[in-house]
Amino acid sequence: MQGPAVRLLRSSGLLRRNFPACLSSWKILPHVLKSSQPEALLDVRNNARPFAPLQTFTDEELMIKSAVKKFAQKEIAPLVSTMDENSKMEESVIQGLFQQGLMGVEVDTKYGGTGLSFFSCILVIEELAKVDASVALLCDIQNTVVNKLIKKQGTEEQKATYLPKLVTEKVGSFCLSETGAGSDPFSLKTRADKKGNYYVINGSKMWISNAAYAGLFLVFANVDYTRGYRGITCFLVDRDTEGLGVGRAENKLGIRASATCPLTFENVKVPETNILGQIGHGYKYAIGSLNEGRIGIAAQMLGLAQGCFDYTIPYIKERIQFGQRIFDFQGLQHQVAHVATQLEATRLLIYNAARLVEAGRPFIKEASMAKYYAAEIAGLTTSKIEWMGGVGYTKDYPVEKYFRDAKIGTIYEGTSNIQLNTIAKYIDQEY
Ligand SMILES: Cc1cc2nc3c(=O)[nH]c(=O)nc-3n(C[C@H](O)[C@H](O)[C@H](O)COP(=O)(O)OP(=O)(O)OC[C@H]3O[C@@H](n4cnc5c(N)ncnc54)[C@H](O)[C@@H]3O)c2cc1C
Repeated sequence: MQGPAVRLLRSSGLLRRNFPACLSSWKILPHVLKSSQPEALLDVRNNARPFAPLQTFTDEELMIKSAVKKFAQKEIAPLVSTMDENSKMEESVIQGLFQQGLMGVEVDTKYGGTGLSFFSCILVIEELAKVDASVALLCDIQNTVVNKLIKKQGTEEQKATYLPKLVTEKVGSFCLSETGAGSDPFSLKTRADKKGNYYVINGSKMWISNAAYAGLFLVFANVDYTRGYRGITCFLVDRDTEGLGVGRAENKLGIRASATCPLTFENVKVPETNILGQIGHGYKYAIGSLNEGRIGIAAQMLGLAQGCFDYTIPYIKERIQFGQRIFDFQGLQHQVAHVATQLEATRLLIYNAARLVEAGRPFIKEASMAKYYAAEIAGLTTSKIEWMGGVGYTKDYPVEKYFRDAKIGTIYEGTSNIQLNTIAKYIDQEY
């Protein structure tokens, strides 16, 4: 049915001229309704459980979640404030992560790893972040980026050399960003020139998490600028390699115990056997790592938001004003309910993205959504400092630290704008 105005416009050609073709009919075009990935058929051969709620865990997942919770409460919680104050992670905490098997969650047991799933790893990061986001970050980068890349791209010799150390004693750092290459990382300027059977790396890196504690650096450098980003190659660089300098840690707003340092490379000689994967494929490895790594950062944001919420609610249930619990004021209850709902939505986004990874299904858009949303909700949740009134604003309580720690979620492993760019790119392709 068309009204006279539409008929008039059509006959004059005005309607057709400026509108996209898809508006020409109410019929649903074939490319529409593709907003979700096609549903996977239930794989009965693998005894997949149909209709299991997303918060359904395997025995192993449950066990590691509860072990990490205990470890974090007992070994990390008493040190959090001091580590934040001193901008330094206690050695006992790093050693504890190794001893608990949390630095090789997905690494095969043949290399001394814990041999669990990606989802377990996400649960570990979430549980650690409830107590301290810096510790969660150290564990996250080791598992979702460093170990993962070596596992996927390493030669058997590289795996046998590095993985047993990475799961027991050596912290790894991921070195992509530079002063001039942040959101646009492939404009990096660090170069690696071939000399016989080794490469010489020159340049610098910026913002490298855990660099002060690291024994191994995964360094992205360009071996051939004539090929643009297709020259980017990933190198395994040991800390004691001559010419590698680790600068002073940044004085940061949050995640202060995670030492974020600049690196310098002055004629750093690296044998060609330390190239990870193929020459010129570094950009692919970096993108791939960050795509998965983002789910880890999302879990870090969720954990810290939940930790903050868990700390705050008992307080407002105890604190009395106007003769009643703060919690009993409806004005506050609505805010609490709103935040709790956002936290639940965040958790489902993250768990779904992690399960997609495990199922080998497309996950990049969902990972970006999870990271983007988790950072937003971490900001929202931790901003409710005022639920605790004045005491929430002091360093005597952990809430102000959660607030400071949350901000980084909108910046690293791709800023929120970059996540939105990725999400929009997929939407553009889907319609
Ligand atoms: C504490 C911390 C730890 C870090 N750890 C590591 C690490 O371990 N390893 C590593 O390699 N890097 C690390 N980083 C670097 C981090 O990934 C970069 O800071 C991040 O990618 C942003 O880059 P930038 O700081 O240069 O900001 P810029 O790229 O300069 O961005 C500035 C602003 O411009 C916006 N912007 C840029 N491009 C676009 C666009 N196309 N569309 C819309 N908006 C855009 C951004 O969203 C942002 O808001 C870390 C950073 C910090 C702060």
